Amino acid sequence: MTSFRRILLLSSLLLLFNPPRGLADAAPDIEQLLNAADEQRSASPERYAALLNQLKLAAGEMSDAQRSYLNYLLAYQAAYSGNHQQSEMMFKALMAPSIPILLRFRATFTLANVQIVRRQFVDAFSSLAQTMAMLPEISEAKWRNQALLSAANIYSEAGLFRESQDFLQQLVAEQLNPRDICISNYLKIQNQHALQITNSLTAVAEVAAQCEQANELMIMQLANAHIAISHLNEKDPKAALDSIQQFLPAVEQTKYNRLLIQVYQLMAQAKADLNDVDGALAALDKLTAAAQSLPFSTPLVAGLKLKAELLARRSDYQAAYQAYQQYSEAERAMRDERSAQLLAYQLAQGELLSKNQQLRLVKEEFRVLELESELKDQREQRSSIYIALLSLASLVLIYVTYRLIRRHRYYKLAAENDGLTGISNRHFFDLQLQKQVKRCKQLQKSMGVIVFDLDFFKLINDNHGHDIGDKALQATVQICNHFIRSGDIFGRIGGEEFAIVLPDCQPDKVLMLAEICRDAIEQLDCSHIQSGLKLTASFGVSYSQISGYQPNELMRHADQALYLAKYNGRNRVESYDQMQTNPGRPLIHSPLR
Ligand code: GH3
Ligand code: MG
Ligand code: MG
Repeated sequence: MTSFRRILLLSSLLLLFNPPRGLADAAPDIEQLLNAADEQRSASPERYAALLNQLKLAAGEMSDAQRSYLNYLLAYQAAYSGNHQQSEMMFKALMAPSIPILLRFRATFTLANVQIVRRQFVDAFSSLAQTMAMLPEISEAKWRNQALLSAANIYSEAGLFRESQDFLQQLVAEQLNPRDICISNYLKIQNQHALQITNSLTAVAEVAAQCEQANELMIMQLANAHIAISHLNEKDPKAALDSIQQFLPAVEQTKYNRLLIQVYQLMAQAKADLNDVDGALAALDKLTAAAQSLPFSTPLVAGLKLKAELLARRSDYQAAYQAYQQYSEAERAMRDERSAQLLAYQLAQGELLSKNQQLRLVKEEFRVLELESELKDQREQRSSIYIALLSLASLVLIYVTYRLIRRHRYYKLAAENDGLTGISNRHFFDLQLQKQVKRCKQLQKSMGVIVFDLDFFKLINDNHGHDIGDKALQATVQICNHFIRSGDIFGRIGGEEFAIVLPDCQPDKVLMLAEICRDAIEQLDCSHIQSGLKLTASFGVSYSQISGYQPNELMRHADQALYLAKYNGRNRVESYDQMQTNPGRPLIHSPLR
């Protein structure tokens, strides 16, 4: 991410989540000055800087609490002006137990915002965990709301949309100011959209109006984009295009790439739906230009896919193939980024889990010792009550630990496995592949890779719907799982693209497994999913003997063999070594997959 974008994002995050507040007691003039600075924090950076300079001169006369308050304001200033590392250190210094709790609380979630802008997901989740641990001690709803909004935003950024919704539900509605209402409702529609829950046009329009009222124009434009999405969902591309054209000039003026990418993608989709292929492609060119600084985003992936489809519609297969390759890369990058975020979350949870467990165990041991000594003194009368208490305490401990472990397991699973099919996701698959390649190389064992892709899968979605498509993907994985050995790694590496790593396996066996899976998919009885549904897949195979012990080469060669299988008519297996020894066959062509 460019530093400019970081600053832009950070400033908006900090503005969003840190409205001013004061901290009372001690000398009134210094106190007033501190409060005034706090109020200017997001309103006017110049005035804020001037007040801080004045305050720094008075630092010698401040109480400890006031000095901490000033340090918070300075840390905020450092973050705001892009000195992230320095601000991080300053916020961390504010987490000592001697610092007033409200300030500590504010420091943790402001720091989490800084860390998320720097894409430090593990740290951001750790900071938020600290925020959440303090939450029960914070009585002011206003401040609880700010923390919850920060958490909701960060979880949503990291793709944990359900968790983000949970935080939003904990907000105390009466204590929300117009800006908070705009932010929280926008996050809600954004999460719902990501969770594939349709937002009604009226609901979305209301959020846009709320944000306009709160003068949050950037968020208003993001909400406007959802108005276009609603029209597209209602199969009304004309209305979508009309609404986009209304707010496009203002959007272009913001130069906010994240917003631009979203709007150009919607514009392209609306134009494509209206059969204006040239117009749609022009919008997609603008999208690609705006996406230079933002390699990961859902609209970028959707846009590149649309581009490939449009170019294919024009029979420009060469260009379509290129666009398709870009789409696959962007989709993979996006999946990898999401998995990394989940992993980060899981790590932070794990860390928290062990800390909590240790703390609870210590507390529990102490309690047991206490009870034992009391028991000695008053054994006759009360022993039975204490024993009951003791077992109750142990039961609570067991229950709490059980719940923590269950959550931990859930996120570990979510970080490693694909949600739909239960096999390894791309990120975890890659890690495992690297591990196995290293191991086989050390032991000089032969290994192979199979990559396969369902044939004409788009047609299955188009003809029977996405749900049927999903079930077909599950059935495919289920049938192949029967033939895969326990040490093999089976992963979903793209939408309808899968890969199998076979450690300690000779080429003939690799080829045989590919052939068995191909045949099993072809023979699969899908009548319980949808009558008349037939599946086939094309397979590509590579071996360490030809590709060496290099994960990237093994995958690339299997992928090339897969292209050849598609080219040669689909529902077949091709191996990379055959391509090498049969130079008459095309090495790589451009059939649009
Ligand atoms: P080919 O034989 O050349 O591979 O044709 P294809 O139609 O399978 O190729 P293409 O890559 O154009 O289509 C892939 C489709 O897979 C498009 C996308 O909608 C669908 N898809 C990707 N992920 C999922 C998913 O999770 N569920 C469902 N139902 N469909 C998905
Ligand atoms: Mg396919
Ligand atoms: Mg595919």
